[in-house]
Amino acid sequence: MPPLDTLNEIPFVPFRSFRSFTTKVKSCEPSEVSILNQKNKKEKIKGYEVVLEDTILFPEGGGQPDDRGTINNIPVLKISRRGVDAVHFVSTEIPAGTDVNLEVDWSRRFDHMQQHTGQHLITTVAESMFGFPTTSWNLGEKVSSIELDTPKITEEQITVLEDAVNERIRERIPVTPVLYHDKDDPKLAEARCRGLPDDHEGPVRVLSIEGLDNTLCCGTHVSNLAHLQLIKLLGLEKGKKNKSNLLFVAGERVRQYLGRSYQVEKSLMTILKGPLEEQEDLADKAVKASKSAQKAVVSLLRDLALLEAYKFKTNPDKETVLVLHRKEGDNEFMNKIVNEINDKSVTCLLTVGDEKGAGLFLLSGEDSVIQELGPKVAELLEGKGSCSRGPYQGKCNKLSHKTKAEKLVREYIAGIKSEL
Ligand SMILES: [Zn+2]
Repeated sequence: MPPLDTLNEIPFVPFRSFRSFTTKVKSCEPSEVSILNQKNKKEKIKGYEVVLEDTILFPEGGGQPDDRGTINNIPVLKISRRGVDAVHFVSTEIPAGTDVNLEVDWSRRFDHMQQHTGQHLITTVAESMFGFPTTSWNLGEKVSSIELDTPKITEEQITVLEDAVNERIRERIPVTPVLYHDKDDPKLAEARCRGLPDDHEGPVRVLSIEGLDNTLCCGTHVSNLAHLQLIKLLGLEKGKKNKSNLLFVAGERVRQYLGRSYQVEKSLMTILKGPLEEQEDLADKAVKASKSAQKAVVSLLRDLALLEAYKFKTNPDKETVLVLHRKEGDNEFMNKIVNEINDKSVTCLLTVGDEKGAGLFLLSGEDSVIQELGPKVAELLEGKGSCSRGPYQGKCNKLSHKTKAEKLVREYIAGIKSEL
């Protein structure tokens, strides 16, 4: 999760709520930026910084991520604010003076507008009802959070807050941005504000939720609380000391969340064979039963290893080679057998895992034998091993070749015997 962005207000950046817009390129300079790739890792990309005469694409700020969109069908990969300019990063050069058409990725933008306005509403109601000021917020990819300056919020308070914000949505309260051209205007002092940044220039914008709140904000918002559709407060997550992080989803995200939750519920109904009301209990029982079965397997494998070793040692016709495969076994199972036999003159070739797939192998015996045969066995089984802890052991991909490995070991030991 990215770090919580503070509610530091940033100055007004010219933008209009159009989905497409025609303008001209002011400048285009080569540059390089770090952006998150599809694997969510930072990647440096070479490209161009484009400044336009005007823009409808919102740069990052006020806790709201930047827009996506296109300039003459070229994808805009990042937008940041520099002074009063929005800087658009693209991978293709668009020379200064070019007439361009901008398109906003509207589904991303509208989602941000809903989460952002939802945050304003929750912030103002949480403060007026409970005296919990907002210190920062984060617009997450699926869920957003508001950091409230209180060490504790009860379940009951969350329910009351959720009821109140949804009541305001049903009241269809208008949300209007008001521009102040003088930043020393006394009316600005009445608005919620945590200070303007040092490089602020131009007019200041106050967001007004009629009769509820006035906040300095540069972000993008819906024009009426009704456009939020619904807000769901999901609960709390651990935050900084003496703060509480309240998780929420607004608007379309509620539908998406509900859709995902229902799919999970439906899958769990088949897996756990029970309705939603019983799924917690059923999942709890299934996890406990699985843990208990796992314990029993560990214990039985240990006993089985002892029995295998005992069977080998007490066999009147015992050979000098023990070859054994057990699908359900593990490293401990193989090492237990070797330790119990405790005889270096016995060469053990032990394997565990799926006979047709990958698994583990172990070769024990005289040091000279395992040093020479170990790598050859590993190669035959298409695996890798080492003998750092006594026997030569490791992982392999082709347990189906274990008969070849057995042949190699038996022939090698027979060869040594005939030499003697
Ligand atoms: Zn805002």
